[in-house]
Amino acid sequence: MASPLAAQAGKLLRDLALRPPLLVARSQALQLTPRRWLNLQEYQSKKLMSDNGVKVQRFFVVDTANEALEAAKRLNAKEIVLKAQILAGGRGKGVFSSGLKGGVHLTKDPKVVEQLAKQMIGYNLATKQTPKEGVKVKKVMVAEALDISRETYLAILMDRSCNGPVMVGSPQGGVDIEEVAASNPELIFKEQIDIIEGIKDSQAQQMAENLGFLGPLKNQAADQIKKLYNLFLKIDATQVEVNPFGETPEGQVVCFDAKINFDDNAEFRQKDIFAMDDKSENEPIENEAARYDLKYIGLDGNIACFVNGAGLAMATCDIIFLNGGKPANFLDLGGGVKESQVYQAFKLLTSDPKVEAILVNIFGGIVNCAIIANGITKACRELELKVPLVVRLEGTNVHEAQNILKCSGLPITSAVDLEDAAKKAVASVAKK
Ligand code: GDP
Ligand code: MN
Repeated sequence: MASPLAAQAGKLLRDLALRPPLLVARSQALQLTPRRWLNLQEYQSKKLMSDNGVKVQRFFVVDTANEALEAAKRLNAKEIVLKAQILAGGRGKGVFSSGLKGGVHLTKDPKVVEQLAKQMIGYNLATKQTPKEGVKVKKVMVAEALDISRETYLAILMDRSCNGPVMVGSPQGGVDIEEVAASNPELIFKEQIDIIEGIKDSQAQQMAENLGFLGPLKNQAADQIKKLYNLFLKIDATQVEVNPFGETPEGQVVCFDAKINFDDNAEFRQKDIFAMDDKSENEPIENEAARYDLKYIGLDGNIACFVNGAGLAMATCDIIFLNGGKPANFLDLGGGVKESQVYQAFKLLTSDPKVEAILVNIFGGIVNCAIIANGITKACRELELKVPLVVRLEGTNVHEAQNILKCSGLPITSAVDLEDAAKKAVASVAKK
C-alpha cells in the first residue's frame, strides 16, 4: 500500500505547510490549493516591511479607478506602477477577465493609471498560481515606479530539514525561481541561520555577495537582508519572499515584491497581524469549516473524503486514485472530536454539488470511533443523506462504533480497511 504517490503526496502536504518557495511542486493530479495559513496581501506585507526599516516604494492602496487616479497624482512620481492585489504570485504574466494582460503595469500618465485600474478592479486575474478562472481583484496598489537595473531573489523560510531558518537567494531574480532552480541550480544559494545566535554579519554579507551586489551596494543589501531576517523572527513568519529583491540605477536596494506567510501557532502573540487577515480569498466553505475547527480542501473529483489527519487524507486520496476514482474534497477533523462537528462536517461535504459519494476514513487514536459513529448516524438521518456512504473506522472503540452503524438501519456500507473502502466508494460512483 506504500505507493510512491502517497509518499509524494505526503511530502507535498508537508511542503505546503511550510510553503518553501523552492520546494512547492504543484501536483497536477491533486490540484491542491489549500489556504490554511495566514497570508497577507503585498501591500500589507510591505507596510510591515517599511515599518521595520526595509526599503519599499511609496504606495497607496485603492479600490476604485477614481481613487487610483487620485493616488497617482498624489504620488507625483516620474512613473507609476499599478499592481493587482491578490495572494497568488506570477501576477506580472497574468491575464484579467476584462482582457487586460498583466497584473503589474507601468505608466507615466495618471489618466492611463485610471484606465488600467478600471480594467483590473472587479475582474478576475488568472496567473500560473491561481485556479483557472482566476481570483477577483478588489484592491490595486498604486506605487511610485523605480527603474530596476538588476533583479535578484531572496527568501527566508523555516525549513524542516534544517530545523530552523534558511536564507535562499539567487542573483537571477524576478523570474520564476523554480525554473532557475531546475535549469541553473548553481545559481541558488542557501544559508542556514542559527535561530539562537541570529543572523551573523558575515552571513548577510556573503548572501549580498552571492546575489551579486557589489561595492557600496553590498553593505546596503546586507543591511536589508538583516532587517528582513529580524522582521521574519519578530512577526513569526514561516516565509518572507522578496522577488525581485532589486537594484536601481541610482544605487538603491529595494524590495519590489513581498510575500509573507505566518505560523498559525503564533496567532496568540501576533494579534495585530492576524487581525489583518480578511479571508476574502478563502472559499466560503473553507471559512465555514474553520468555524467548526475543521479543515476543508476542495478538489475536483466526486468522492468526498472525511478523515482525521493530513497523512490519512493523503493516503485516502492516493488510494482513491489507485482505484480509478477522484476525490471531491477532504474534510479533516482534528483531534478532540465532538458529535456536533461530525454533523457539521457532513453538512459541508454534502453541500458540494460535485459530491456523488462519501468516504469516511477515521483512525481512532485520540478520536473515539463511537462518537464518530453516533455523529454519522445523526447526520445521515437529519440531513437525509442521498449519496452512498462508505465508512471505514479503526482504532479506539471500533467494535462499539460498528455496532452503532449496523443497528442504525441506515444504508451505510462498512469497509474493513482502506483499500476496501476506496474500492466500495469508487464502485458506488461508477454505478451511477
Ligand atoms: P509578480 O509577478 O506577482 O511576482 O509581481 P512583481 O511585483 O514581482 O512584479 C512583476 C515584475 O514587474 C517584476 O519582476 C518587475 O520586473 C516588474 N516591476 C514591478 N515593479 C516595478 C517597478 O517599480 N519598476 C519596474 N521597472 N519594474 C517593476
Ligand atoms: Mn514577484
